[in-house]
Amino acid sequence: MLGIGIFGATGRIGKLLIEALQKDKEANLSCVYVRNELQYSIPQGVLVTNDISVFLESSDLIIDFSSPEATKLLLDMAIDKVQRPIVIGTTGLDKMQQDLMIVASQKMPILYASNMSKGIVVLNKLAQIVSSTLKDSDIEIVEIHHREKKDSPSGTALRLAKSCAEARDLDINKVRISGRDGMIGKRSKDEIAVMALRGGDVVGRHSVGFYLDGEYIELIHNATSRMTFANGAIDVGKWLIKQKNGFYSIEDALRF
Ligand code: NAD
Repeated sequence: MLGIGIFGATGRIGKLLIEALQKDKEANLSCVYVRNELQYSIPQGVLVTNDISVFLESSDLIIDFSSPEATKLLLDMAIDKVQRPIVIGTTGLDKMQQDLMIVASQKMPILYASNMSKGIVVLNKLAQIVSSTLKDSDIEIVEIHHREKKDSPSGTALRLAKSCAEARDLDINKVRISGRDGMIGKRSKDEIAVMALRGGDVVGRHSVGFYLDGEYIELIHNATSRMTFANGAIDVGKWLIKQKNGFYSIEDALRF
């Protein structure tokens, strides 16, 4: 049985990971890391600790849905002391934190996905195809998430924008805009807009629009349950545990 440790166990996704693991036939919950007290009950025999080193030692695989600062603490400890395969779902990582994942991946298998849903992987592929095929279309990406989401735009929207830009040999950092306000003039040809809406309890909606004269295509993905992310992370974790040290994407794990 694969023993999984959850980092960010008291969060929205962390709780769902614990729930999903109770029904899993190949993996179980070995350990949860909590900063303070755990406000709810977890299955008997599961280690609860606020010591990251003990947490790492007690698990065959780590799944992280926490915060960028917490992910950095986890990676620092894993690099220095206890190496374990780690699935990282935390979003909003800055350049330094992203680089840290690469450094860590020289010592252990690391899989990072800003979205653990299979549907988003397919959406990303479709967006690449449309972007390179309809080269003259104006690309506008819109995402909406619940009011509690801290980072903006979503990691998924940024990923979609990057894929669309690369499909046209453009550098996303030069063509991305994130808002329009005032007398900004007409739209430039290459710009890729990424707009973020926040409200209610929306789990996650991403649309990628390709606008031409006389027609347009909009590709839309709706996540209707957060359990999608929890199940996706467990699935890719089962794949990651069999891999060599290295840095992997969800596409590597799903092979599509
Ligand atoms: P949440 O705020 O409900 O939970 C965050 C968890 O991280 C809590 O358990 C909190 O105690 C812990 N945490 C925060 N800062 C910490 C620190 N400094 N040290 C230790 N623990 C710390 O958030 P959530 O909705 O569960 O999302 C968690 C992360 O996962 C966010 O970055 C979110 O954007 C991301 N997310 C990713 C996907 C995906 O598919 N990759 C899907 C949904 C959410």
